[in-house]
Amino acid sequence: MKKSIIISIIILLSMESVFAQQKESIVSIPFIERVLNGLASDEMRGRHAFTADAEKAADYIAHEFQDIGLKPFTDNSYKQNFIMNKVSRIHESILLNKKALSKEDFLIIGNKKDLSWNQTSAIKISRIGKSDDFAKKFRSFVNSNEDIIVEIDPVFASYITRFNKIYGKDNVIPNRVEEGPSKVFIVCESLPKNYQIHYQSSITPFTLSNVIGYIPGKTKPHEYVIFSGHYDHIGILEAVDQDSIANGADDDASGITAVISLAKYYKNQNNNARTLIFAAFTAEEVGMYGSKYFSNNINADCVIAMINIEMIGKDSKFGPNTLYITGYDRSDLGALMQKNLKGSTFTFHADPYKVQNLFYRSDNAVLAALGVPAHTFSTSQIDKDNYYHTVKDEISTLNIENIKSSIEAIAIGAKGIVDGSQTPSRVEKLQD
Ligand SMILES: [Zn+2]
Repeated sequence: MKKSIIISIIILLSMESVFAQQKESIVSIPFIERVLNGLASDEMRGRHAFTADAEKAADYIAHEFQDIGLKPFTDNSYKQNFIMNKVSRIHESILLNKKALSKEDFLIIGNKKDLSWNQTSAIKISRIGKSDDFAKKFRSFVNSNEDIIVEIDPVFASYITRFNKIYGKDNVIPNRVEEGPSKVFIVCESLPKNYQIHYQSSITPFTLSNVIGYIPGKTKPHEYVIFSGHYDHIGILEAVDQDSIANGADDDASGITAVISLAKYYKNQNNNARTLIFAAFTAEEVGMYGSKYFSNNINADCVIAMINIEMIGKDSKFGPNTLYITGYDRSDLGALMQKNLKGSTFTFHADPYKVQNLFYRSDNAVLAALGVPAHTFSTSQIDKDNYYHTVKDEISTLNIENIKSSIEAIAIGAKGIVDGSQTPSRVEKLQD
């Protein structure tokens, strides 16, 4: 008994030191800081997808991929370009009983060029009331296929103000040319009999770019493992303490830093059986358009796993040396990776924010729906992070050690997936 305890202690100790050795070569703090500083600096001006600022960030990442020696994914370019329509607002106003409503108190979403509705237009009217689940109802209205006016109970006024800052700028973009339904959200007790809604916009084509590089698999080149994050953020906001740049250091410069660090690590290892694809997606913040384009242009059946990394800049609610995985139980990817971390103190957890439906809210969503074990790895305390989507999401608020340990855990955890010895189970496909 005693002997076996001693033996297991020796085994544990030696595993601990093996783990420490493995960690050594993965990534350094100065490397993380350099990349983070590059992506989340004020020069990048918040990396909004429909600006030259995002292009600058894309160039930065392409340059890193080139330095590492990744192969360009598309036509000898790291940039996977696609065209979408950029909608710029020219005018929007709402009159209730002939009185103009403050811009903070309404939100118009859709891709109509012109919209002019009033009480005679016979538009369906619905409501998000005090006791409703705001997020759930809001999402269902946004996704519905009909024109609709939604009264928003004043208790939710701050949500509309916040969404206005994100979607209300000149960039709500549809992914089709023909006009779709419009949704008008109005903060009010109830819509008066007399109302007028006006909206006018211009639609222009705009090129967006994902940045993608890969390392060909040595023995299983047609089996892909994807490491991804999104490089775009929300750009310029209203100034707070004279700062108007939403740097997006945690969201998601931290994830892209991990993707670049992993690319460098695996390139140095140079022993991947499977093909490793490193993807920095654009336009996540405005509707996940980058990952949608990428996912719809790759054979999902060849994708063995997707490890999407989103916001790893601060300790998770489980404490240091932990990550949570969205949709943890939908495949055994998390369990396999945990196995490979035996001997370390690092643990992977199931997503603790089930009600937020995070599994389908990030760039893993499209491939997951197609059956790929595609999960998002995060440490974000999304329910109480006051810096989320504000100008305060800066490098100075991050814990660099947390980023380092997260990268190490993913690198070691994915070992068997990369060397071809482990294959995670598939996720149940979503019917459409
Ligand atoms: Zn994000």
